[in-house]
Amino acid sequence: MAKNEKKMEKVIGTNCYNCKFIDKKEVTVDPKELNDEGGIDPKNLEEMERAKKADLITLPGGSKADATSKKLCYNDQVDMNVTIRMCCAYWDNVGVKRPWKTKVSQ
Ligand code: SF4
Repeated sequence: MAKNEKKMEKVIGTNCYNCKFIDKKEVTVDPKELNDEGGIDPKNLEEMERAKKADLITLPGGSKADATSKKLCYNDQVDMNVTIRMCCAYWDNVGVKRPWKTKVSQ
């Protein structure tokens, strides 16, 4: 590996905590804030509209015990506290391959 080449972390499964839009600051979450699968539901109509547009979801099969913290998603389209049990259509990170952006169409 070249000296300045950064080893890319292998991502298996996407969630808010491995997304480039997540804040570094982690805050303990009150279990009362969580839904039954460990996500945080939108708190008002405005948040609900943003969540709908972003397809902000709580991944299935979890529980409140899976989320002990929350972090801010600073993507302007979301701008809400999220947990490791959540994800949305704007998930992105450094090193993601998008062949349609680099390959010339035939
Ligand atoms: S809500 Fe979407 S954009 Fe924000 S951290 Fe989660 S996956 Fe990333």
